[in-house]
Amino acid sequence: MQNIAIFPGSFDPFHIGHESIVRRALPLFDKIIIMIGYNANKKSFFPVENRIKWINQVFDKVEKIEVRLHEGLTVDFCKEVGARYILRGLRTSADFEYERAIAQINKKMHPEIETVFLLTLPEHTPINATIIRDIIFHGGDASMFLPKGLNREEFTINGKKSNS
Ligand code: ADP
Repeated sequence: MQNIAIFPGSFDPFHIGHESIVRRALPLFDKIIIMIGYNANKKSFFPVENRIKWINQVFDKVEKIEVRLHEGLTVDFCKEVGARYILRGLRTSADFEYERAIAQINKKMHPEIETVFLLTLPEHTPINATIIRDIIFHGGDASMFLPKGLNREEFTINGKKSNS
Protein backbone atom coordinates (compact mmCIF):
# COMPACT_ATOMS: atom_id res chain seq x y z
CA MET A 1 0.00 0.00 0.00
CA GLN A 2 1.35 3.42 -0.98
CA ASN A 3 1.92 6.08 1.69
CA ILE A 4 0.04 9.01 0.22
CA ALA A 5 -0.11 12.43 1.91
CA ILE A 6 -2.38 15.34 1.10
CA PHE A 7 -1.01 18.85 1.50
CA PRO A 8 -4.16 20.99 1.56
CA GLY A 9 -4.33 24.77 1.32
CA SER A 10 -5.52 27.65 -0.74
CA PHE A 11 -2.03 28.41 -2.10
CA ASP A 12 -3.10 31.86 -3.22
CA PRO A 13 -0.26 32.00 -4.14
CA PHE A 14 2.04 29.02 -3.47
CA HIS A 15 5.16 30.46 -1.78
CA ILE A 16 8.58 29.34 -0.55
CA GLY A 17 7.19 28.36 2.86
CA HIS A 18 4.82 25.88 1.18
CA GLU A 19 7.54 24.67 -1.15
CA SER A 20 9.89 24.00 1.74
CA ILE A 21 7.31 21.90 3.62
CA VAL A 22 6.60 19.79 0.52
CA ARG A 23 10.28 19.24 -0.34
CA ARG A 24 11.17 18.31 3.25
CA ALA A 25 8.24 15.87 3.40
CA LEU A 26 9.12 14.13 0.13
CA PRO A 27 11.35 11.43 1.72
CA LEU A 28 8.52 10.51 4.11
CA PHE A 29 5.89 9.58 1.53
CA ASP A 30 5.48 7.68 -1.74
CA LYS A 31 3.32 10.46 -3.07
CA ILE A 32 2.24 13.96 -2.00
CA ILE A 33 -0.91 15.41 -3.47
CA ILE A 34 -1.05 19.18 -3.18
CA MET A 35 -4.77 19.80 -2.82
CA ILE A 36 -6.02 23.25 -3.69
CA GLY A 37 -9.14 23.78 -1.64
CA TYR A 38 -11.69 25.34 -3.92
CA ASN A 39 -14.81 27.21 -2.99
CA ALA A 40 -16.98 28.22 -5.95
CA ASN A 41 -18.62 30.97 -3.88
CA LYS A 42 -15.37 32.51 -2.64
CA LYS A 43 -13.29 34.89 -4.74
CA SER A 44 -9.60 34.14 -4.78
CA PHE A 45 -6.82 36.59 -5.61
CA PHE A 46 -5.19 34.50 -8.31
CA PRO A 47 -7.27 32.37 -10.70
CA VAL A 48 -7.22 28.72 -9.74
CA GLU A 49 -5.82 27.76 -13.18
CA ASN A 50 -2.73 29.89 -12.46
CA ARG A 51 -2.27 28.43 -9.01
CA ILE A 52 -2.33 24.89 -10.45
CA LYS A 53 0.06 25.88 -13.25
CA TRP A 54 2.56 27.54 -10.89
CA ILE A 55 2.72 24.57 -8.52
CA ASN A 56 3.20 22.22 -11.48
CA GLN A 57 6.05 24.43 -12.69
CA VAL A 58 7.73 24.39 -9.27
CA PHE A 59 7.66 20.57 -9.11
CA ASP A 60 8.12 19.98 -12.81
CA LYS A 61 10.54 17.03 -12.52
CA VAL A 62 9.20 15.56 -9.28
CA GLU A 63 7.19 12.46 -10.08
CA LYS A 64 5.96 11.94 -6.52
CA ILE A 65 3.98 15.18 -6.60
CA GLU A 66 0.53 15.75 -7.99
CA VAL A 67 -1.68 18.86 -7.89
CA ARG A 68 -5.43 18.49 -7.55
CA LEU A 69 -8.41 20.71 -6.98
CA HIS A 70 -11.04 19.79 -4.41
CA GLU A 71 -14.23 21.40 -3.16
CA GLY A 72 -15.24 20.06 0.24
CA LEU A 73 -13.66 18.37 3.22
CA THR A 74 -10.00 17.34 3.06
CA VAL A 75 -10.80 14.00 4.72
CA ASP A 76 -13.28 13.18 1.95
CA PHE A 77 -10.57 13.87 -0.60
CA CYS A 78 -8.19 11.62 1.38
CA LYS A 79 -10.68 8.79 1.06
CA GLU A 80 -11.22 9.46 -2.64
CA VAL A 81 -7.51 9.16 -3.42
CA GLY A 82 -6.56 6.58 -0.76
CA ALA A 83 -4.41 8.94 1.32
CA ARG A 84 -3.75 8.16 4.98
CA TYR A 85 -1.82 11.32 5.85
CA ILE A 86 -2.56 15.02 5.92
CA LEU A 87 0.57 17.17 5.84
CA ARG A 88 0.54 20.60 7.49
CA GLY A 89 3.16 23.23 8.27
CA LEU A 90 3.39 24.90 11.67
CA ARG A 91 4.66 28.46 11.89
CA THR A 92 3.56 29.71 15.29
CA SER A 93 1.72 28.73 18.44
CA ALA A 94 -1.42 30.25 16.86
CA ASP A 95 -1.03 27.80 13.95
CA PHE A 96 -0.61 25.02 16.47
CA GLU A 97 -3.81 25.80 18.37
CA TYR A 98 -5.80 26.08 15.15
CA GLU A 99 -4.32 22.96 13.60
CA ARG A 100 -4.56 20.92 16.79
CA ALA A 101 -8.35 21.26 16.95
CA ILE A 102 -8.84 20.32 13.30
CA ALA A 103 -6.43 17.40 13.49
CA GLN A 104 -8.00 16.04 16.68
CA ILE A 105 -11.52 16.31 15.29
CA ASN A 106 -10.42 14.66 12.06
CA LYS A 107 -8.76 11.89 14.05
CA LYS A 108 -11.90 11.34 16.11
CA MET A 109 -14.09 11.12 13.02
CA HIS A 110 -11.60 9.33 10.75
CA PRO A 111 -9.16 7.37 12.96
CA GLU A 112 -7.37 5.91 9.95
CA ILE A 113 -6.11 9.33 8.83
CA GLU A 114 -3.09 10.86 10.58
CA THR A 115 -2.13 14.52 10.42
CA VAL A 116 1.63 15.03 10.17
CA PHE A 117 3.17 18.40 11.07
CA LEU A 118 6.48 19.86 10.02
CA LEU A 119 7.83 22.94 11.73
CA THR A 120 8.50 25.85 9.44
CA LEU A 121 12.13 26.81 8.86
CA PRO A 122 12.83 29.90 11.00
CA GLU A 123 13.34 32.09 7.93
CA HIS A 124 9.91 31.10 6.58
CA THR A 125 7.95 31.74 9.76
CA PRO A 126 6.75 35.26 8.87
CA ILE A 127 5.79 34.38 5.30
CA ASN A 128 2.13 34.06 4.57
CA ALA A 129 0.00 34.33 1.44
CA THR A 130 -2.01 37.30 2.75
CA ILE A 131 1.10 39.49 3.05
CA ILE A 132 2.34 38.36 -0.36
CA ARG A 133 -1.03 39.24 -1.93
CA ASP A 134 -0.91 42.64 -0.26
CA ILE A 135 2.58 43.36 -1.62
CA ILE A 136 1.52 42.36 -5.13
CA PHE A 137 -1.78 44.22 -4.90
CA HIS A 138 0.06 47.43 -4.09
CA GLY A 139 2.54 46.99 -6.91
CA GLY A 140 5.46 45.74 -4.78
CA ASP A 141 7.94 43.01 -5.62
CA ALA A 142 7.20 39.79 -3.70
CA SER A 143 9.53 37.64 -5.78
CA MET A 144 11.86 36.80 -2.88
CA PHE A 145 8.94 34.90 -1.32
CA LEU A 146 7.99 33.00 -4.47
CA PRO A 147 9.57 29.74 -5.62
CA LYS A 148 12.38 29.99 -8.15
CA GLY A 149 11.65 29.37 -11.81
CA LEU A 150 8.26 31.08 -11.95
CA ASN A 151 7.63 33.94 -14.34
CA ARG A 152 7.64 37.03 -12.10
CA GLU A 153 5.61 38.98 -14.65
CA GLU A 154 2.61 36.77 -14.00
CA PHE A 155 2.54 37.97 -10.38
CA THR A 156 2.21 41.61 -11.27
CA ILE A 157 -1.32 42.84 -10.77
CA ASN A 158 -0.56 46.58 -11.10
CA GLY A 159 -2.88 47.53 -8.33
CA LYS A 160 -5.80 45.72 -9.92
CA LYS A 161 -7.24 42.77 -8.08
CA SER A 162 -7.32 39.53 -10.06
CA ASN A 163 -10.57 37.57 -10.20
CA SER A 164 -10.90 33.83 -10.49
P1 ADP B 1 -4.79 28.05 4.37
O1 ADP B 1 -5.02 29.16 3.42
O2 ADP B 1 -5.73 26.91 4.27
O3 ADP B 1 -4.49 28.49 5.77
P2 ADP B 1 -2.33 28.04 3.23
O4 ADP B 1 -2.57 27.91 1.80
O5 ADP B 1 -1.94 29.39 3.76
O6 ADP B 1 -3.50 27.41 3.97
O7 ADP B 1 -1.22 27.02 3.72
C1 ADP B 1 -1.32 25.64 3.53
C2 ADP B 1 -0.34 24.94 4.44
O8 ADP B 1 0.93 25.54 4.34
C3 ADP B 1 -0.71 25.00 5.92
O9 ADP B 1 -0.35 23.77 6.52
C4 ADP B 1 0.16 26.08 6.47
O10 ADP B 1 0.46 25.90 7.83
C5 ADP B 1 1.39 25.89 5.63
N1 ADP B 1 2.13 27.13 5.54
C6 ADP B 1 1.66 28.35 5.26
N2 ADP B 1 2.63 29.27 5.31
C7 ADP B 1 3.77 28.62 5.62
C8 ADP B 1 5.14 29.01 5.84
N3 ADP B 1 5.50 30.27 5.75
N4 ADP B 1 6.03 28.05 6.12
C9 ADP B 1 5.63 26.78 6.21
N5 ADP B 1 4.36 26.32 6.06
C10 ADP B 1 3.45 27.23 5.76
